[in-house]
Amino acid sequence: MIHSLRFRLMLSFLLVILITVGTVSFFVARNSWDQIRTYEERVTEGRTNRVAYLISDLYAAQGNWQGIQALVTLLSTMEERRIIITDPTNTVIADSQNTLLGKEYHLDNSGILIYSRPLGPSIGGGSSGPRPGPGPGQGPGPGPGQGPGPSNRGDLIANLYVSPLTSTVSSLIRAINGFLLWGALLAVVIALVITFFISRAVTSPIRALTNSARNLGKGDFSQRVAVKSKDEIGELAQSFNSMAGNLERTEILRRNMVADVAHELRTPLSNVAGYLEAIRDDVVKPDKPTIASLSEEVDLLTRLVDDLQELTLADAGELKLYRQTEDISQLIAQSVTAIQTKIKSKGLEILTDVQTDLPLVNIDYQRISQVLRNYLENAYKHTASGGKITVYAVLENTAIKISVSDTGEGIPSEDLPNMFERFYRVEKSRARAAGGSGLGLTIVKRLVEAHGGSVGVQSELGKGSCFYFTLPVDLPNSGETP
Ligand code: ADP
Repeated sequence: MIHSLRFRLMLSFLLVILITVGTVSFFVARNSWDQIRTYEERVTEGRTNRVAYLISDLYAAQGNWQGIQALVTLLSTMEERRIIITDPTNTVIADSQNTLLGKEYHLDNSGILIYSRPLGPSIGGGSSGPRPGPGPGQGPGPGPGQGPGPSNRGDLIANLYVSPLTSTVSSLIRAINGFLLWGALLAVVIALVITFFISRAVTSPIRALTNSARNLGKGDFSQRVAVKSKDEIGELAQSFNSMAGNLERTEILRRNMVADVAHELRTPLSNVAGYLEAIRDDVVKPDKPTIASLSEEVDLLTRLVDDLQELTLADAGELKLYRQTEDISQLIAQSVTAIQTKIKSKGLEILTDVQTDLPLVNIDYQRISQVLRNYLENAYKHTASGGKITVYAVLENTAIKISVSDTGEGIPSEDLPNMFERFYRVEKSRARAAGGSGLGLTIVKRLVEAHGGSVGVQSELGKGSCFYFTLPVDLPNSGETP
């Protein structure tokens, strides 16, 4: 679980969300707390000033403190704050709670000082005379208060002490904290739900791929994943599917190969078994002709096994080529000489038409001789007495094209595309009886392709065939190449 991609994705998302929400909350909280404090200070100051003005107005209006206690009680109720007034000698002349009247009260110059000053016509209903103005100051006890600085200082007429406003700050901050906390929690929950679905969307194709890969590993080559996305995982799925496709094709080829080989081995083996049984039952005598027939079957089996081994090596890309710079016209001459007697004795004619000044080629001499001999052998086998075999060699662009043309039986056009397939024979039984393994042309194709060339055939039924192969001439002059 801890190591699962999904868990890690969710954990990463959660971390990012927590860090984001935490940072945003921190700055929002700090900023709003500061703003609220400033705002509250301004409100407190304004309201305290109002109290100071109302009290100084009373004094200005009547020139004494008569009725101050009633005013203080009223203001205290309105303001929900305790209010204490002392005269300049710090004797309490009004107390909203009535407990300090006549007593001395001072808070280290922390009250608001109320000064008398002349009243202007615009303030206090136009009456003239001394008017107290509020002075700066603040105090605990009943509380810190603040007053505006007087523009016109007269005589000090009183000190005002006001308890602090019932703070709205802490409750506001608590509310904001609550909002932030719940907001953060909600964000985390929503993000987790979204992350859950996103991570599922991301990991489910990976899971599908893992399952398919596991099944493929167990040998089920039909496994494909249905991931259609165009992202990296989609690409991975596509690669997986094409890999599985290739594996499936290879597996089918392998099975077919085994089936083909078994089939090819069965005929000569059953022939041998048949002969042996007949000898045992005294139906056939173990004389020279019988032994010769048996030996032929064994030869065929040996050739089949040899060819199979060579083909397997070629298929695995393990055929060793010993390349050297060679003269292809010399190779043709040698191969033709080798088969000439055989051809003549069948009443066939063999000709060569090799372009002069052909460039040298970098080839494995033995292997290319094997290719040409195979073509010549086939032409010999499939051309009736009196026929003609011609070997051509010509430079075409950057390759030498070597063809073996015969005037033999030819090949039906429908068989032409399969001529280089393994075990493909035009006339199954006859070709096998002629001693062919059915692998000759397949090996030819592999050998030529290993040299960078290509093979092909043209044929007309009843008129003859022309098998050819090409060898590139611009190969690097390397020594031994695998
Ligand atoms: P094999 O060893 O059986 O001859 P090959 O792979 O060499 O196998 O040839 C495959 C088949 O191609 C042969 O069985 C034959 O039917 C056909 N074939 C090859 N060469 C010729 C040719 N020159 N003319 C007619 N048929 C040919």
